[in-house]
Amino acid sequence: MWAARTAKVHRCLAAASVNLGRGSRLGVTMAKSKFEYVRDFEADDTCLPHCWVVVRLDGRNFHRFAEKHNFAKPNDSRALHLMTKCAQTVMGELEDIVIAYGQSDEYSFVFKRKSNWFKRRASKFMTLVASQFASSYVFYWRDFFEDQPLLYPPGFDGRVVVYPSNQTLKDYLSWRQADCHINNLYNTVFWALIQQSGLTPVQAQERLQGTLAADKNEILFSQFNINYNNEPLMYRKGTVLIWQKVDEVSTKEVKLPAEIEGTKMRVTRTRAKPLPLHCDIIGDAFWKEHPGILEEDS
Ligand SMILES: [Mg+2]
Repeated sequence: MWAARTAKVHRCLAAASVNLGRGSRLGVTMAKSKFEYVRDFEADDTCLPHCWVVVRLDGRNFHRFAEKHNFAKPNDSRALHLMTKCAQTVMGELEDIVIAYGQSDEYSFVFKRKSNWFKRRASKFMTLVASQFASSYVFYWRDFFEDQPLLYPPGFDGRVVVYPSNQTLKDYLSWRQADCHINNLYNTVFWALIQQSGLTPVQAQERLQGTLAADKNEILFSQFNINYNNEPLMYRKGTVLIWQKVDEVSTKEVKLPAEIEGTKMRVTRTRAKPLPLHCDIIGDAFWKEHPGILEEDS
């Protein structure tokens, strides 16, 4: 009975349409099976129109991951560059990302306000960003960690947040950069106390309890001769990725005219690429220098 009905439904579907994948079908009448109603159980997760859509990824259990893979403390530049390579891949492969910001084991991707990619479905944005990022992390691992094998597959959680105005988006990015600063200042002192003064992690933690930013700067300067402001910008500010025009020079064989056939010529093409910056994005200067990022708001 069951098999017979299913076969009938299948014949009916086959007669009425040819499935081309991606939901498109050839055929005049769209046959619907009696099971079609289950579609209605799918949640509507369309992101609010005209809002900035932000996808933030965060490494799963990266404290352990960093330990197992011998990451340098307080910052491992290989790991940070790998994260940025993955984010560049995400921007290059997916559509409508105007800016990305990363620090530590997290990266945020901002989609255009007017993006209609996958009909603005949050789950599509989030899963495509997370899977593209995670596969890139494994794919490019060896380019950054030549002598360190990848011991197990890393994971990333994702979330989607929509921001209704340029100000809320800028405040979101400022919040992440302020977080980078707070954590990096703490970690810089914390690891100096351990690596250079021989404190245990618990002792270093106790030493820093209740200290303000000024106190931490003072410890770094007086005890370790470190001027925090001279620490690398990538560590203090994180990484901003924006589209910038780059001249690409390639050598191409030119066909015509006949007398110079086979001659190689240098061809310069201008292409937009997601390039990293390590600058302040909390103040207005960055946004004035790159007005194109927010301009579609007008
Ligand atoms: Mg994490």
